[in-house]
This record gives sequence, C-alpha cells and structure tokens, in this order.
Amino acid sequence: MALSLFQNFSILVAIISISLEFVRSSKVQYNSIIMRRLVLGTVGGLVGILLLMSTVPFNADKSIIFDFRYVVMYLSAMYGGFISSIITSVIIAFYRIIVTGANPNAIIVSTSILICGFLLGALSHLRATRGQKFIIMNTVVALCIMVALYLISDDFNLFIANAFLFTSSTIFTSYFICRYIQFSIATIRNYWQLKIDATTDHLTELANLREFENRFEQLFEECQSNQLPISFLMLDLDHFKLINDTYGHQKGDEVLSELAQILIKSCRGHDLVARIGGEEFAIVLPRCPRETALAIGRRIRKQIEEFSFCKDTHGIRMTVSIGVSSFPKDASDSVKLMAMADKALYKAKSAGRNAVMVEQ
Ligand code: GH3
Ligand code: MG
Ligand code: MG
Repeated sequence: MALSLFQNFSILVAIISISLEFVRSSKVQYNSIIMRRLVLGTVGGLVGILLLMSTVPFNADKSIIFDFRYVVMYLSAMYGGFISSIITSVIIAFYRIIVTGANPNAIIVSTSILICGFLLGALSHLRATRGQKFIIMNTVVALCIMVALYLISDDFNLFIANAFLFTSSTIFTSYFICRYIQFSIATIRNYWQLKIDATTDHLTELANLREFENRFEQLFEECQSNQLPISFLMLDLDHFKLINDTYGHQKGDEVLSELAQILIKSCRGHDLVARIGGEEFAIVLPRCPRETALAIGRRIRKQIEEFSFCKDTHGIRMTVSIGVSSFPKDASDSVKLMAMADKALYKAKSAGRNAVMVEQ
C-alpha cells in the first residue's frame, strides 16, 4: 500500500512540475481569465483521472480505494476558482462512474466529489487569507471524504481507520503541494522579472544594448537567408546636452521616455526599437528596403520636430538626426550595416542636424 501511495503522490508531483515548467517557458499567455479557468479545470480533471487509474486499495477486496483526487480538486478551486473546480470535479466524478459502473458506492463517491467541487469552488472566492482558505476548504474536503466513506463502509472500525488515513494524507499533501506551487510561482515571477530587467532599458522600456545586439543579429540572418531586405535607422537627439543643462537631468529623462513612445508608435510590431546609448536609438526594420526606410525615417524626424516634449510643464522642442542603411544595398553583413548607418548619422550631424541621410 505504501508503494502505491507513493506512486500516486509521484504522479501528482510530476504533473504539477511539468505544468509549472510549461508555464515558465510558455510564450502562450491566456489573456482571457475564462480561458485560463477552463484550461486549469480540464487539466485538473485529467490529472484526477490519472490518479484514479493508479488508485491505492485500502482493504483486501479493494472495495475502498484511495488516491489524491481531492488534492487536485482543492488546487483547481484554489488557483482557478469556481469554474475550474466544477469542471475538475465533473470530469473526476464522471470517470469514477465509468470505471466501476453506476453501482451504489460509485454513485455515493461521485456525488461526494461533485458536492465537494461545488463547495470548494464557492469557498475559493471567500475574502480570506490563503491560510484561512486552506483551513476552511480542507475542512470541507475532510467532511466530504468522511461522509462518503461512512456511507460506503460496512465496518465502523474500518471506517474510522480509513477516514483518518484518507483525510490526513489528503490535507498533508495539499499543504506541501501548495507550498511547492507557491514557491515555484514566486521563482517563475522572479525569472521573468530578471529576464525583463536583463533585456530592457529601465528608463524607456525599450530593448537595451544587449538585447538589441542579440535580436539584430537574428533578424539580419533571417532576412539574409530569405534574400529579403533589412534596414537600419540610427537616431541621435540633437543638442540633447542643452536640455539637461537648461531643464535638468530629470526633464531630460522625461524627454527620452516620450521619444521612446514616439518611436514605438512609428514602428510595426516585429520591428526592433532599442536604446543603444544615452540619447542614441536604433530601429531595425526587417523586410524593409532603403526607400521605405528613408520614408519612415523622414516621418519620424518630422514627428519629433513637431512634438511638444514635457508638454504640461515646458513644451520642449527637439530635433533628431537619423542615419539610414539597408541590406543588401549598402552593406553585405550586419556589422557593416550598422557602421554605414553610423556614418550616415555623422553625415546628417555635419550637414547641420535635423536631417535623415544615407551614406551614399
Ligand atoms: P549632438 O547634437 O552632437 O548629438 O549633441 P548632444 O548634446 O546631443 O550630444 P552630446 O554627446 O554632447 O551629449 C549627450 C548628452 O546626453 C550628454 C548626457 O548628459 C546626456 N545623457 C546621456 N544619457 C542620459 C540619460 O539617461 N538621461 C539624461 N537626462 N541625459 C542623458
Ligand atoms: Mg550621442
Ligand atoms: Mg545627441
């Protein structure tokens, strides 16, 4: 029995670990809460079926069986709310009837599962701390288990022994799995936060230099191997030092943030916009030939020229110089492409600033 119990426990932990790893690495974001609840409820139900398949016999004639199905039901309610809890319990109850047929014991057990699922779902929305909810919801679980066991047990002593074992192991397992999930969720959040911090410029929330170098290389290779054009815009604010000197560093920061928003709005979703220096920005436009890139550069230059920065306090006017280069027209590799944009930017600065230029 101990071995079967361990097997049942291992299935539960393994599936939770795999699900958490999926959440960590998944790029799929369930924006809709309903969708997330449906998925969680269904996964909970399927895990419940797996647990029932490796159920632990309690007595010699296997009339009483035990597994961690109630742990899954508790988790489904705790993390998915009412909808998830109902879906999980319906799937488990339905499967329980299918496996053993609609005999009186199966009907009692399935009814207890459905009632428990309903109550857990409702209680999961209680305004209480996580700890209080744990106590209340697991009390309900224990009561549902005990009532079902009492109704299906012939022998009172056996009922007492089973009820104690079933409820205590369910509650202990729920407690430790909950702690494990909480710890894993906190770790996943930290992981994502670190990933964002490592790739994002904290002031403008654009890609930082490191992220820019990685993604630029990727985008260039993709376009090169598919024989598609790719363009590079290098932007540098004109006389930005003057803004800091006149209005202070903080206003300078605000200007940089507002500029980042203009750049983001001027680009397509798959373009790369990055802050690659203090007041220097790069825009990579995959599948974009030089003429289009020049047109985009001119549009951005005009927008910045016409924009009123720190509008509420100062209404600061700014201009920008932009160097443009394109593959395959100006360069055959990514390093050269960047160097050509840099040269074009220098040309724009030398020509008096507030201009968009190509090197040749
Ligand atoms: P140019 O037209 O030749 O580009 O002149 P410029 O003044 O823009 O260029 P310069 O390189 O002389 O000065 C850049 C200024 O950008 C100096 C620096 O204080 C400022 N700067 C760099 N990073 C930041 C930042 O994060 N915040 C603020 N507020 N200023 C910054
Ligand atoms: Mg500069
Ligand atoms: Mg500058």
